[in-house]
Amino acid sequence: MSEEKKSENNQWKKVLFAKKKHGALQMTKEELLACECFSKDYMSFLNIAKTEREACTKVESLLQEHNFIPFTPGMALKVGDKIYQNNRGKSIIAAIIGTAPITEGVRLCAAHIDSPRLDLKQNPLYEDNELALFKTHYYGGIKKYQWTAIPLSLHGVIIKADGTKVTVNIGEAEADPVFCVTDLLPHLALEQMKRSSSDIIRGEELNLLVGSMPFKKDEESESVKLNLLHILYEKYDITESDFVSAELEAVPAFPVKEIGFDRSMIGGYGHDDRVCAYPALRALLDSNTPQHTAVVILTDKEETGSDGNTGLCSSYLKYFIEDLADCFGEKGRHVLHASQCLSADVNAAFDPTFPDVMERNNCAYLNHGVCVTKFTGARGKSGTSDASAEFVGTIRQLLDTENVVWQTGELGKVDGGGGGTVAAYIANLDVDTIDVGVPVLCMHAPFEVVSKIDVYMTYRAFFVFMAS
Ligand code: MN
Ligand code: MN
Repeated sequence: MSEEKKSENNQWKKVLFAKKKHGALQMTKEELLACECFSKDYMSFLNIAKTEREACTKVESLLQEHNFIPFTPGMALKVGDKIYQNNRGKSIIAAIIGTAPITEGVRLCAAHIDSPRLDLKQNPLYEDNELALFKTHYYGGIKKYQWTAIPLSLHGVIIKADGTKVTVNIGEAEADPVFCVTDLLPHLALEQMKRSSSDIIRGEELNLLVGSMPFKKDEESESVKLNLLHILYEKYDITESDFVSAELEAVPAFPVKEIGFDRSMIGGYGHDDRVCAYPALRALLDSNTPQHTAVVILTDKEETGSDGNTGLCSSYLKYFIEDLADCFGEKGRHVLHASQCLSADVNAAFDPTFPDVMERNNCAYLNHGVCVTKFTGARGKSGTSDASAEFVGTIRQLLDTENVVWQTGELGKVDGGGGGTVAAYIANLDVDTIDVGVPVLCMHAPFEVVSKIDVYMTYRAFFVFMAS
């Protein structure tokens, strides 16, 4: 090919080909610095918000620091007012009233703050051969074998017989003990290794080791269990039957860490979906009075299908918007119809070790920015809300204009499995909704991996969206 022809080809390529580029090559020095600062804040958030309750508590205190006040239906609201509604300590909605009439809709950012984990059963404690253990029931989709032989901490609440609440958080502080699920040594695992891989560790084998000392050298049976209950009685003033009205969650006890010699990634428990929840919250906290009322909803129960009164299949979001509309003498459904939503959840990042599950032209890559996903679902797009081309166009134009590094990607190959998000439940309320989120490696594992650039660009996407 002649030189002239070659350069003509290159010119047309520049014009016509879609560009795929590492985020760092699209960012300024200042942006990379801001990205670094943002990741530090996110990492501290992740360390202290390991459950939906802890995330909700931390978010509420940050909102209060930024002058958000509890919303009460019927309250007088004006432009610039900052409000929030805490739903049962497990999910939270916050909003800043915009300059435009409420009937022009809200800019809604949604993410979830529950993560896969091991919940204690309601009658958890037993002793077997002088070891004390807790029975668990896993929450969300996990590879059970990943949850053995790692340090776990215990978080949650116990409601005692008299109704008082005890908050539990043990295994996080340097001096705290931790717990673990035991696994079989390889030497004796011959039969275990013949099990199918989904069965290598069974649900009823996820037993948490919590003690081994007898009560005051007593030789009676179950004296290790007695000793355990005595420790819990002294520490929390509880008895065995109080577990019935408790929600105790075992989660990985290790702290969040930077990954790589270049420290470009973050490893930790519960990125899914606090890696979207924290940027959404921060974008709201950093917002000036927006044109459209900006709303952030951080929900619970996504990992078990969004049912229940703190999940997005419940009506609590709809009721909030209705109450908000009432404050201005308007109808909630008119507000919803005019609203737009970025429904944020993590997406699967391309993993070079397991390339076969991905279709390389349509999957998310680490460091290529916030991932915009037109549709999710399984098989023939089952369970997706499928954003319209018009709405994708709106979001695309916004992100490009504001220099947000973004990519598009879907969750793996067609018929490779699939999954859904809360986007459909919000879209079902008559809201223009699209999935966005951070690409993750080892999703749902005790230690998930994200890139700092993608986290920062997700924050930027929320920020410019709420300002639009
Ligand atoms: Mn998720
Ligand atoms: Mn998930």
